[in-house]
Amino acid sequence: MRGICSRSRGRSRRAPVLLSLLLATGCGTLSVQEEQALGRQMSGEIRRGLVLLPDRVVERYVRDIGAKIVEAAGPQPFEYHFYVVEDDDINAFAAPAGHIYIHTQTILAARDVSELAGVIAHEIGHVARRHIAQNYNRQRNTGIGYRAAVLAAAVLGGGAAATAAQLGGGLAAMAYLNSFGREAELEADTFAIETMPRAGYDPNGLVTFFETLQQESGGGQSDFLSSHPATADRAAAARAQMEQQPPRPDLEVDDNGRLEIIQRRIEIVMGSGGRGRY
Ligand SMILES: [Zn+2]
Repeated sequence: MRGICSRSRGRSRRAPVLLSLLLATGCGTLSVQEEQALGRQMSGEIRRGLVLLPDRVVERYVRDIGAKIVEAAGPQPFEYHFYVVEDDDINAFAAPAGHIYIHTQTILAARDVSELAGVIAHEIGHVARRHIAQNYNRQRNTGIGYRAAVLAAAVLGGGAAATAAQLGGGLAAMAYLNSFGREAELEADTFAIETMPRAGYDPNGLVTFFETLQQESGGGQSDFLSSHPATADRAAAARAQMEQQPPRPDLEVDDNGRLEIIQRRIEIVMGSGGRGRY
């Protein structure tokens, strides 16, 4: 921990608190209460390392989509919170206990509201299916200590002091807890395809968003594809699921130009305002 503490003095007293909380949860699965405690602790850590878009209209737009999906999903173990992060990489993260972060570039890349709803529903699926608690257990079972994961992330992110300063315990832990395997990705997709129609969104948006991503990345891997591995069988599984339960024809794809207005708003807010992008 010395390397992290010496480079980010502001966090030197906070990171160990998070670390001790993680280590103190003991054996077995993280309970809902433990994940809630972790979520409260981590959301503070994470927000110190990210820049949230200072625009309530965009924030409300994303929260409304998220709320519709959560409501359609039925009783949930956590209360959900949605945040919009200023970031030029297409990505989205689920922090413990229902704190979901959507990058501005993800909103800008979506071709219609069903694609954005697909990403949000997929992230909610990771939370609802307790994948974060599973990742926490995996690090215990494989012997890859949380401490080692944080240190590795800090070393990888090292170099520029600014990067190191951003890489507090919270961000490193979130990246670690968001490294999902193929099975978890398929499960989050299944959750999204089941839930989106009940929220009024066309689940095809989930598949077309991944296709758009793969085309735009020119065969390379975007951040989103790295942290949420997309394989051909994932798209095939999603299509097979939709063939079994064909979505109703009246589901929302286009929200009457609202997404486009939100996209222009993001460009204006991020392109001006004197605060810069980072
Ligand atoms: Zn995922």
